[in-house]
Amino acid sequence: MPSSDNKSPEAKSPGGDIPATLKINEIFYSIQGESLLAGKPTVFIRTSTCNLRCTYCDTRYAFWQGTVMPLGAILSEAKKHETKYVCLTGGEPLGQKASIPLMQRLLEEGYTVSLETNGSFSIKDVPRDVIKIIDIKCPDSGESESMAWENLSLVKAHDEFKFVVASKADFDWAQKICAEHGLHEKCAILFSPVYGKVSPAELASWILKSHAPVTMQIQMHKEIWGPKERGV
Ligand code: SF4
Repeated sequence: MPSSDNKSPEAKSPGGDIPATLKINEIFYSIQGESLLAGKPTVFIRTSTCNLRCTYCDTRYAFWQGTVMPLGAILSEAKKHETKYVCLTGGEPLGQKASIPLMQRLLEEGYTVSLETNGSFSIKDVPRDVIKIIDIKCPDSGESESMAWENLSLVKAHDEFKFVVASKADFDWAQKICAEHGLHEKCAILFSPVYGKVSPAELASWILKSHAPVTMQIQMHKEIWGPKERGV
């Protein structure tokens, strides 16, 4: 990774309004810890900045720290690792317009591209072939009012909605949203516990008792490397 600075992305793509640079917090190679791609060796491109402030956020360092990088340099960095899986994560990738052409270029390079987004931006401009893992923020996050609800009707079958559950009240709220909007018919639904707030056993028991047709997840990378390790 290049060294940090505080510049804003400024360079524009030729003939367009979309910047040709992104502020990047870190690029690293690790095991995908979440989503239906969990377990895959993956290159992570973590963009800087986020418009939300979830109560349980574990990547606050990405709010400010980062380096402005041209898209070509980001691609070159990703290519140093021998995998065809790339995950664009944050912070919030869709908070920077150049995330869209970056995902397009990664697809053109033959990567399986996933996008982890906080659910507050519309996914309408995200290339169709990107696997979109879209958070629906539960009330205990403090950000459930920030959701771009139009995303509920924009997903494709290969996309995923993710509910991060911090309490039984969050679990019940997530169940209600899924039922009201028929989400189970649209794509995979992931439920995962907030680390240190709900134990995996508790969440598992709620899922089994309610017969919720969801996929339970735990953050595999935290089990492997511990909750505080960065760049994994
Ligand atoms: S959306 Fe993600 S990065 Fe932003 S505050 Fe919430 S948990 Fe942190």
